[in-house]
Amino acid sequence: MARPKVHMFTSTPGEMDTNSFLIETERSIVAVDTQFLATPARQVRAIIDAIGKPLVGVIISHSHPDHFNGTQILTEGFGDVPIMATQAVADGMRGCADRIREKWLPMYGSDYPAETIYPNRIVEGGHVLSVDGADIVIDSLGPGEAPDLCVVWVPGSGDMIAGDLIYDGVHAWVVEQRSQEWIDQLEDVKRRYVDARCFYSGHGGTGSTRLLDDQVAYIERFRDFVHEGARDGTIDQKQKSAIIVCIKQHFAGFKQDWWVPINVDAMANELGLLVLPE
Ligand SMILES: [Zn+2]
Repeated sequence: MARPKVHMFTSTPGEMDTNSFLIETERSIVAVDTQFLATPARQVRAIIDAIGKPLVGVIISHSHPDHFNGTQILTEGFGDVPIMATQAVADGMRGCADRIREKWLPMYGSDYPAETIYPNRIVEGGHVLSVDGADIVIDSLGPGEAPDLCVVWVPGSGDMIAGDLIYDGVHAWVVEQRSQEWIDQLEDVKRRYVDARCFYSGHGGTGSTRLLDDQVAYIERFRDFVHEGARDGTIDQKQKSAIIVCIKQHFAGFKQDWWVPINVDAMANELGLLVLPE
């Protein structure tokens, strides 16, 4: 049997540089993550149509809207496609989708996907999906970058779809304030997936285990910048600006730098530091 093949699609910076993946097996396609807006979701759909095999499953890696908004566009016309996620991912989606829609709909209008499709197949962490004889493993890592972060392992090809466990050349979203858990997950994945041939980021490119090491270094360095920029447990607005400058200089060229101020507030809170208002 031919090896499964992973196709990666990356949206534009204005669409958050988010990656979606199509795992192509002998006669089928399984999608991992479905994009934020309708335009990139349609582009992923066009790739599915060009491959010309039926979409037999969708896996949602975690409950952030840039990874689940486009599900309807991908699945339309394929019948009852299993939309798979862990209970924690499904709960996370239900907890945030409406609020996020309300916030972004005025800005994106008709490009904001009309309907949120929730998972219809709840899977346990470690669930093995068998498609045309190829295994696809949904590995739940628990709370980290999101309330539950799942990675998808394709043993037949050595592909590790790490999703938002890894940001490559893109500022990481540390807003959920679990930086230590995130680092622990990175080290755990590095230890357990020594056979992985290629790691795919959720935002950015692909690479070796170096991507995991780089992500650990990013989080640790970010934490240090915030820590070092505080005085007596507080950060005033001038200090905050200086921290932001340091981070942007240190990670020069990283995409999505509008997240940095939001991330600094979150990291300060995680570290027990008080950010003083203007
Ligand atoms: Zn993301």
